Amino acid sequence: MHKLVIWKQNTSKSSLNAIASWLIQEKTIRLCWIPSHIGIPGNECAYEAAKSAISLLISSFKFPPTDLYQNLTSYYQRLWQAHWDACLSDKLHAIKPLLGYLDVTSLTRRNSVVLQRLYIGHTRLTHSYLLNGEDHPQCKFCSCPLTVFHILIKCPHHDSVRWRYFVVSTLKELFDTIYPCHIFDFLKHTSLYHRI
Ligand SMILES: [Zn+2]
Repeated sequence: MHKLVIWKQNTSKSSLNAIASWLIQEKTIRLCWIPSHIGIPGNECAYEAAKSAISLLISSFKFPPTDLYQNLTSYYQRLWQAHWDACLSDKLHAIKPLLGYLDVTSLTRRNSVVLQRLYIGHTRLTHSYLLNGEDHPQCKFCSCPLTVFHILIKCPHHDSVRWRYFVVSTLKELFDTIYPCHIFDFLKHTSLYHRI
């Protein structure tokens, strides 16, 4: 089945990611340049009308508040980012310095939960001790505190399995560069997936 997708000249990062995922699926991609509105009478008229409106006097017309939503969203996003930039001591800052949503739409519900728990560093395996009134769990191989960082990056007991799926030195690098499926496979291979 063929899929027709149209991108503008300023192709977005999500579009490039889509192309990358199709290449991984070994789909054939044909790129085709299509001229924009140039030469299309209706579009040319609309363009000229919009351009001429720039020189009109500013009127006192009321406008709907929804017109401000985009600007308000960007404004508060910048405020939120500035506040987050000042939170360098927060352990999550090292993982996600730039604010934004974690895209989990392509994951199953269970995988989405696992990934988000790993992201925030709180899992049943590493943090259920808080609910049970127990001591912080230790890695049974290394006798050091059991953390998401230790499991995913550091624990030498899992090196051979880990190297089959990824080789990274930080959680940020892991979440930024490794496909989540490789992280899930590592956890399944080490029998930790259902304990996250
Ligand atoms: Zn260990």
